[in-house]
Amino acid sequence: PHAPGLDLVGAHARVPLATGGTAEYANLDHGASAPALRVVRDTVDELLERYASVHRGAGWHSKVCTSLYEGSREPIRSFVGGRADDAVIFTRHTTDSFNLLAHCLPARTTVVVFETEHHAALLPWSAERAPGRDRRVVRLPAPDSPAHAVALVDQALRRRAPGPALLVITGASNVTGEVWPVAELARVARSRGARTALDAAQLAPHRPFSITDLGVDYVALSGHKLYAPYGTGALIGRADWLAAAPPYLIGGGATASVRDDATDYKPLPDRHEAGSPNVPGTVALATACHVLATADREALAQAETALTETLRRGLAGIPGVTVHSLFGDRADSIGVATFTIAGQKPAVVAAALSAEHGIGVRDGAFCAHPLVRKLLGAAGCADAENGQALRASVGLGTTTEHVQRLVQAVESIAERGPRLRYVVRDGRPVP
Ligand code: PMP
Repeated sequence: PHAPGLDLVGAHARVPLATGGTAEYANLDHGASAPALRVVRDTVDELLERYASVHRGAGWHSKVCTSLYEGSREPIRSFVGGRADDAVIFTRHTTDSFNLLAHCLPARTTVVVFETEHHAALLPWSAERAPGRDRRVVRLPAPDSPAHAVALVDQALRRRAPGPALLVITGASNVTGEVWPVAELARVARSRGARTALDAAQLAPHRPFSITDLGVDYVALSGHKLYAPYGTGALIGRADWLAAAPPYLIGGGATASVRDDATDYKPLPDRHEAGSPNVPGTVALATACHVLATADREALAQAETALTETLRRGLAGIPGVTVHSLFGDRADSIGVATFTIAGQKPAVVAAALSAEHGIGVRDGAFCAHPLVRKLLGAAGCADAENGQALRASVGLGTTTEHVQRLVQAVESIAERGPRLRYVVRDGRPVP
């Protein structure tokens, strides 16, 4: 809708309303998974015409598939501003990328991570999952400003045990939408001899960035948030730790030679990509990265800033509604707003927004339980320990009408409650 080449599959779809009739679907859940670009779908359709074995066949279609698969690495490396010698390893998603990186950390590594991270970035490093490798994990408390985040990291890295260190940080929070001071954090990490891994699952769809310019060593992202389908992500970054680690998965594709007494494994990237790979997924992700990288991202960011302001201001202006943030109202933020309505259960509100207004939002704790609990507690919400909230997130498929419809619907729900009554069955509200 914003520019040629950025049209999405399923735009203007209509959805049924429980109150009768249909509405144009207002998908305000781009932060969870974004619809695919039409050009991505067309590219995958074309690939499926020539679908054949990858890396394993001598036929023409096998060669085409192999070259498309291998050719998918460069657009992704370039999209994140990777260095020429950075490895690009295909994974299933950000979660998989960080599990792969955790698998590759050298012995005696200290990992420093904020408790505010998405569970995919918070949890894979645990020492129990790296027996005998003398791993330490330092979990930092939620900072109250970007400068505070930098100070906490500096202190933790200064006091750490000897050995390698990795700082794991988010580029933009999937809960508050706030953009973190990545360059400054990576600079402090570097000055203390640590590497930095960036969770770009939310940042990448919204803002252009370069890991080379940011001084970041590794970056993880997910295709399904980047206008490509589910099932493909990537880990991009310094090759040395990845090359020295045993394969992430053991099996065909990663092996150079297998004998009774010894197995030799291949170098990167095959080393960590055992098994037949997801060729349509990688081609889809590379296509999406190329389309975004060559779009007018300045114009896209401006359009998103306008939508984000309408969303955040509109919600925050409703009596009884709180929009949650760590760094305060004025923080730089992508188009994500997490909010609560006093006296209303988030799951019931989300069900009402869908069934009565044709609006898709997310409710729950957004795979960031410590952060959501902390935000609700700080805002004095009842039942903060339960840690449930609503999240609206915008993307290429969002129009001003969608955002205005949400604000009006939340206003009426905050005043009068949902139009229908919902009973909670199996933990979910049902009209
Ligand atoms: N990090 C962030 C900031 C996210 O928003 C998400 C997805 N909600 C993830 C990591 C995990 O992504 P995936 O589920 O695709 O592995």
